[in-house]
Formats: sequence, C-alpha cells, structure tokens
Amino acid sequence: MNINKIILKSLLFFLLGFWGQSVYAYALQIVYPKSPNTQIDAVSTFFIGSTTPGASVTINGKEAKVFENGSFVEVVPLKDGFNRFTIESKNGTEKDIFTYIIKKDPKNTQAVPEPELIEFPKNEYLYASIVKNNTPLRAQPNENAQRITHLNTDTVLMIDAKKGDYYRVSLSPVRKAWVRCDSVVGYSTINSKMLATVTDVTVTDDKLYTYIKTPLSFAVPYKITETDTGLTLDLYNIKENPSDTKIFPPTETIKSFAINNVALENKSTYFIELNNKLWGYDVYYENNCLILKIRKTPQIDANYPLKDIVIAIDLGHGGDEYGAVGPTGVKEKDINLDISLKLKEMLEKAGATVVMTRTSDCNIELYERTKLAKKSDALILLSIHANALADGADPYKKHGTAVFYYNKESFELAKTLKNTLVSELSTFDDGVSNYSLVLTRPTMPLSVLIEVAYMIHPEEYALLLDENFRQKAATSIKNGLENYLKSTVNN
Ligand SMILES: [Zn+2]
Repeated sequence: MNINKIILKSLLFFLLGFWGQSVYAYALQIVYPKSPNTQIDAVSTFFIGSTTPGASVTINGKEAKVFENGSFVEVVPLKDGFNRFTIESKNGTEKDIFTYIIKKDPKNTQAVPEPELIEFPKNEYLYASIVKNNTPLRAQPNENAQRITHLNTDTVLMIDAKKGDYYRVSLSPVRKAWVRCDSVVGYSTINSKMLATVTDVTVTDDKLYTYIKTPLSFAVPYKITETDTGLTLDLYNIKENPSDTKIFPPTETIKSFAINNVALENKSTYFIELNNKLWGYDVYYENNCLILKIRKTPQIDANYPLKDIVIAIDLGHGGDEYGAVGPTGVKEKDINLDISLKLKEMLEKAGATVVMTRTSDCNIELYERTKLAKKSDALILLSIHANALADGADPYKKHGTAVFYYNKESFELAKTLKNTLVSELSTFDDGVSNYSLVLTRPTMPLSVLIEVAYMIHPEEYALLLDENFRQKAATSIKNGLENYLKSTVNN
C-alpha cells in the first residue's frame, strides 16, 4: 500500500468515524462526575448514570449493580494523583466504553500561617456600618465559625482590631465578635466609645403581631436568643436605657417583660416571657428604631388544623439551577416542582392559603424566596427538595427522608414532619438535623427544609420518578403539617 492510499484510507476512516459518532446514541449515560477530565479532592467519588435496562456495567472490570430502570450508582475510591476509570456497558453485542481521568491532589498538610492580630491603640475605635442585610457576626475570624447574630444594613459597629480579612467588633468590654472587612464600610476613627441612647420602649399590637419598639440615637448591634419560655434580646453599645425602670403590663402575647441595663458592659437586655410557644419573630431597624416583631398565636381548629393558615412553599432550585441530577438525567428541580404543585392542591383543599416561591421552571434568588414568605405573613415556610451527597460519602449508607431546621422554634415542626413522612412513605429515616441554610435560617415564618428522598440512591430515585409516590409524599407533608398544628392546640 503506498503512502497516498494510506492517507486516503485514514481520511475516510476519520470522516466515517466522525459521522458515525455524531448519529450514534450511547446506551451508557453518566451524569456524575460531570466531566471525563476533572479534579475531585475526596477519598472517594461515585459514578452515577444509566444504561439500557438489562445491560451490564463494569467499572475498571468490576461489575456495577444495574437497577431495573437501568440506573447505577457506584462508589469508587480515589488515590492521590491521576485515577483512570474505564466504564463499560454491554448489552449483547452492543458495547459502550467511556474513560474518565479524575485527579486528586494530595491533602495539603502544611498549616496556613495564622494572620496577625492587629489591635488598635487603647481607646481608639473604628466605626463602620454594615452594607448588606443578613450579615453574620461570627465567634471567630473565619467563615466556618459559629454565627453569633445577623445584622442588617446601616447597623453601626465599634471595631477595635483586625485579623486577616476580619474586623473584631466590640459588643461590650467582655464580648467580641468578628465581621468580614468587606461587609462594612468604615467612616471614622474616634478616640472614645460612641454609645447609643434609648429614648423610650413601647409595646403595641396589631392583628397578627406584637411589636416591641426601641428608638435609639443610632442603630447598634443586637443579638436575639430563643429561651424555653420566650426571647432574650441583647442591645450592645448602649449608654443608657431609661425604660429599664419601666413596668410593662402583660399583653395577649407577653406574659412578662423586663429590661436590665448593665452600664458597665454598655449592654441592655430584654427578658421576654411569652404566654404561648414561639410562632416566629423578627428583629429589624426602621430608621434608628429597633423593632422586635413577635408572631401572635394563630387560631387553630383541631378538627381542621390547616383552615385559614398561610403556608409558603419554596420549590427548591429552578431555571439554571438544576439541583441534584438522578442516574437517568431527571433533574431535582422538576421533582420539587411536581411535589410542590401537588402539595399546594392538598393544602388548599384542607383550607390553607398557599404562597409559592415559583410555579414554573425559573430562576429565583435564595433571599428573594425567604423575603416573599415573610411578606405574605406565612405561618410556616417549607422548602421542598430531593437530596444528594458530596464526594466522599456513600449513598448506600446515607439515604432516606431528612428534615433540616436551624432555629429552636422550628424543631418540633421538623421532627413531626420527618416522623410523619418516614412512617407514611416507609422511607429510611435520615433524621432531623440542625443546618444553617438560607431557607432554614428565617426566624419568621417557622422554617424547615424537607429532603423527601435521595436523587442519587437508585431505589429512592425510582420512587421519586413514580407519580404515585410523589402524590403520597405531598399527602404526607400535608398530614405532617396537620399533626404539628394539632399538637400545638393544647399546649
Ligand atoms: Zn435541593
């Protein structure tokens, strides 16, 4: 064969091969890892995908379990460096082979040097105000540290030191917190403490809420804590609060209310005991007036517990945000949408008013979702999801129904929902967990996030794809809400 013939043959082969490939539909589909060349720094990852039902799948020669609908999920360990995986699907004479190269960086054991703490000269403070709502103050200068409180725009902070990307905030001479430097805008350095004065504290009511209003000379940081009987509110950088000697009479919501001013700590503490359980609260500034808004106990009819109750449903993800993707490629956002639409119908039939964060497949920002729920005066906010795991975990060990909450006031709701779902759906119990998420952090409405089942557990995925199961899941969520509301009637 002369050289020209070889070139011609190769060209033909290339063209035919190219053409052939473009029309050939692979039976084998891999939805995760997302790319055949990728980096994953975990002890293991998983291959999530599907093939023709009945076909066999091997990963580096090892047989994978293929489920009835063709789904497979296989955990594979990763070693440092390059990991090569050959995934082969065989169905009679049909054969698909994919190769994945996954790079894993060795664990960086070198300690990152701690940034230096720069304390400002004694009695010198930088005053700065917060630029974004829901800014956390943390216990330590790092993003994983515990959140002490969340503050809104224009709250004035007294700063006395800097460490790395964080400022140290002086809440009182004995209490410090940390805020990211880029969360505040500095406006002056003063050689003395700037403390706020309270003029008068009032308690008022409307149909749904009780308001405790504190007019201040400027917006200071605060911290609210749920107690067993109500709330404690700490106001920092306070000079004086003449209302600490005032006697507040009890109201429909408030059993007792007293203020304790600790001048030495520049702190004013409000002790609020409630007549009933907490149904939600919110703290915010209107100009320089701090408002603590407490939800009144709702009227619940034990026979029709959802009657006239406003429920906000947040449909997890949407639009460009797919959420988790199941082995055959179905997206979590679509599962969430369907369960939520079914739930809406069930709740409305039971007499509730339902507010949805989306009713179609579209993008919505996380904070827009909680804002909408709050604006609608909803009593309860449910965020509906289907779960997945990060690399390093094993979906055959961790799966089932889980409910997340963040604030103590929402714990009973989370627990009742999880128990109802697990018992009615016969799913594995994945527990109730305290998780700090945008959709679990609101203190009003009561907020929980439901993970109905796992998208990446093949049997649970098959359930999520089943219309009857999704209907049952919606019914169980409704039943869980009813169980919870009923349980509060005699408390
Ligand atoms: Zn989700």
